[in-house]
Formats: sequence, structure tokens, C-alpha cells
Amino acid sequence: MGPIAQQVESLRSYFNTGVTKELSWRRQQLNQLLTMTQTHQQDIVDALKQDLGKAEQESWLAEIGFLEDDIKHSLKHLAKWCKPRKLSTPMLAQPGSSWLQPEPLGTVLIIGAWNYPFQLLLAPLVAAIAAGNCAVVKPSELAEHTSALIARLLPRYLDSNAYAVVEGGVEQTTEVLKQKFDHILYTGGETVGKIVMKAAAEHLTPVTLELGGKSPCIVASDCDLDVTAARIVWSKWMNAGQTCVAPDYILVENAFVDKLTAAIVSKLDAFYGQNPAQSPDYGRIINARHLARLQSYLEGQKVICGGQVDENTRYMAPTLVQNPALDSPLMQQEIFGPILPIVELERIEQATDFINQRAKPLALYLYTRSQSLEQQILAGTSAGSVCINDGMMFMANPALPFGGVGNSGMGRYHGQWGFDTFSHIKAVMKRSTRFDIDWRYPPFSAKKMKM
Ligand code: NAD
Repeated sequence: MGPIAQQVESLRSYFNTGVTKELSWRRQQLNQLLTMTQTHQQDIVDALKQDLGKAEQESWLAEIGFLEDDIKHSLKHLAKWCKPRKLSTPMLAQPGSSWLQPEPLGTVLIIGAWNYPFQLLLAPLVAAIAAGNCAVVKPSELAEHTSALIARLLPRYLDSNAYAVVEGGVEQTTEVLKQKFDHILYTGGETVGKIVMKAAAEHLTPVTLELGGKSPCIVASDCDLDVTAARIVWSKWMNAGQTCVAPDYILVENAFVDKLTAAIVSKLDAFYGQNPAQSPDYGRIINARHLARLQSYLEGQKVICGGQVDENTRYMAPTLVQNPALDSPLMQQEIFGPILPIVELERIEQATDFINQRAKPLALYLYTRSQSLEQQILAGTSAGSVCINDGMMFMANPALPFGGVGNSGMGRYHGQWGFDTFSHIKAVMKRSTRFDIDWRYPPFSAKKMKM
């Protein structure tokens, strides 16, 4: 048995001791994770800076603060989530009672992505701990500094009998995926998502796939232009566009496109200055391969703002593309970088058809004051999540589930949704034996049939 197989085996044995099921133990582990995050805030900020050039405030907002809030929310609600959930019982089964009893699944695997390498690995872990599981976490090798930091810190704060970090790339992940887990939560692209799902099928392991896709951003001419532009620029260029729920492209009426473009350019200038390469608040592309991919998307396109690249610092300017060819890679692939194509429509109502002709997105954004357009888009399209008049803010509400639909993923987490993902919601019925009417027992008779 190899070292990874041994590690998983020992987590399984530990799960069988029942220690991780204790509510007090789960609380203690969550508190330890909180202490780790608070104590090593500067180390985390430094690692994220090295991996992605993230600004400190951005790291706080989308990674460290996000995780802290998530842990606090779980601690606050844990007792309630664990309680049996009472249900009604039909006449047929009276006297009796029915309820749902959440129980931990066992030993789970969490595979993280590189773009929010701290939060995307540890927020699912919060849910797994809360639900009483053991877990293997596999950070993305592309965010190497954050991966190394997590591998160093986690065993110092969490019970190593229950939680293990496996670092590495394809080779190690392939080995991990050969093991039997009780659930796998994977965050990343579609291609690897299929590899994960195939590996899981070998063991009949259920999966949550947090994938990506092209998230549309519909901007109607009745929107509040100033606020809309600010929110689009914030949500698109945070982390240099390397966000799974970043608006991927804009849909706007051609009569309104010039106003919108000017407002976006003006907000870019206000946020990052004339030369964003010098802004301490603007991030960098994860590696040379992704920078080259993004550069190739600009070939043959009409760049109306940005486009500059510095390979030495992995910098790509915030870039706007006007009327991209719809069959070009820019409009066929998820961009996952700082390029925002602006697609013009004759009428904003055409947005529904445009979106429905493509794969179901992870997020959909709509900026409008019109109730009827809102209803038309909500009823006429499908997406993992929808945010009206803002970008990405839905992520800040732990009451809302986070997950995709169709090609953008399956399953969900955050808050109680994450707890439920890592739990088996066991159905229980309890009957009284005080009376026992015999109508259902053989031998059957015409008289019994009438009852
Ligand atoms: P990535 O390259 O970091 O890969 C994700 C994980 O898969 C890593 O841990 C990696 O080691 C592992 N992996 C890579 N190749 C593998 C292989 N052949 N076999 C087994 N494991 C392998 O991430 P990525 O795919 O570049 O991430 C970008 C994508 O992730 C985008 O599509 C983005 O939208 C999506 N994403 C989704 C979310 C979400 O929460 N829904 C969040 C972030 C990113």
C-alpha cells in the first residue's frame, strides 16, 4: 500500500472511532481553523501576493475574511444544523413520527483551484468539519506558495488524525483519486471535472463539482449607469479577472454601448489609475501559460481599451473588446482573465436567446430597473446563481447556496448547504406498537381491501 492509500486508510480508521462526530470536537476544530487564519493572516496575505499579486484588502475580502465569516457562521448555527428535522407523518403510519437525521459521510476529498487558493480549499473543509467528517485536502499546485503554507499550517492547528493535506499536481491527484472516499468536492475546470467524476464512479462516490463557464452580464439602458459601471469593474477585475463568477462578457443594446463603455473606462481609471501596472490593487496572471492563453484571445479582436502585457511580471492590463467574433476562442472559451468583451444586441430582450444558445453559466448578472426584464431573464434563462444590480455579492450571503448547473457544475455548498453536502440526511420513521391494525398483513381478504 502506497503512502497516500495508507493515509486515507488511517483517516477511515479514525472516523470509525466516532471522535469526529462529537459536536464539541467539531467546534474545537473549527475554532482551531479560525485561530490559524487569524494568527497567520500576514503569512496568508504574503503567499497570495506571491502567487497572484493580490492586494491585501482583496485577500482579506475574498479569502481570509470570507473564511473567517464562514467559520463563525458555522459555529453559530452548528447545533441547529445537527438537530433532527421533524417532518409530518401520514395517517397510514399513525401513530408515528418522522424526521431527518444528518450524519457525517465519513472520509471526504476536497480538491481546490488556484485562483482563490486559500478560501476555495478551506471553505469546503469548514463544511466537512462541521458535518463531522475526516478529510483529505489537495491544494492547487499552481498557487505554490499558498499550497505550501496550508500544508505547513493545517497539521499544526487541526487534528492530523482526521485531516491530511496532499500537495502536488496531476501525479499525486491521480493517486489520491484512486482511493475510496465518501464524497469528493472538486473546484476547477470542466476537463479535470470529468476526470474526477470518472474516478469517483469507480467507487460510486458522490461528487460536488464546482466548475466555471462564461457568466453573462446583461446591462439594460435603464440601469443606474454610475453604480453599474463601478460594480462591473470591481467584479470583473478583482484578482485580474481570475474569478469563476466574474462577468465573462457583457450584453448591451447598441444604442447604449458607447455610454456604458465610457463609464467602464472611467471607473477603471478611477480604480487602477492610468497605468494599472503600477497600481498596488491590481493582480497578476497566475503563470506564463495562462498569460499566453489570454494573449492569444486578443488576436484579430478590436481592443478598445488595455491590451498591454508584460511577460516578466505576468501583467495583463484591464482590456475591453468591442463586438468580438462569436466563433472566436474569446467567445467560445471561459476567459478567466482581465478581458471583457462587449457584445451588442439590437434589443436587450434578445439576451435570453443569446444565453440559452450556450452552456448554462455559473453566474448571471443583470443590471436594470425594469421588473419585467428581471422577470423575463429569471424565468427565461438558467444559471447557477443570479445577481441583480451587482456582481459577485451573492457570494457574501451564506444563506444562499453556491454551485453550478449543467456544464457549470453540480451540487452546492456555503452555510447549511455545505453542511448538508457533507452529510447524509438520514430518513427515520418511528412507530408506536400500541395498536397494530392487520389490514396490510396476509392472508388478504375482500374485507381487508375495503379498509
Ligand atoms: P487547477 O489547474 O488549479 O485545477 C484544479 C485542480 O485539479 C488542482 O488541484 C489540480 O491539481 C487538479 N488537476 C489538474 N489536472 C489534473 C488531472 N489531469 N487529474 C487530476 N487532477 C488534476 O484549476 P483550473 O482547472 O485551471 O481552474 C480554472 C477553472 O476552475 C475555471 O473554469 C474556473 O471557472 C473554475 N473555478 C470554479 C470555481 C467554483 O467555485 N465554481 C472556483 C474557481 C475556479
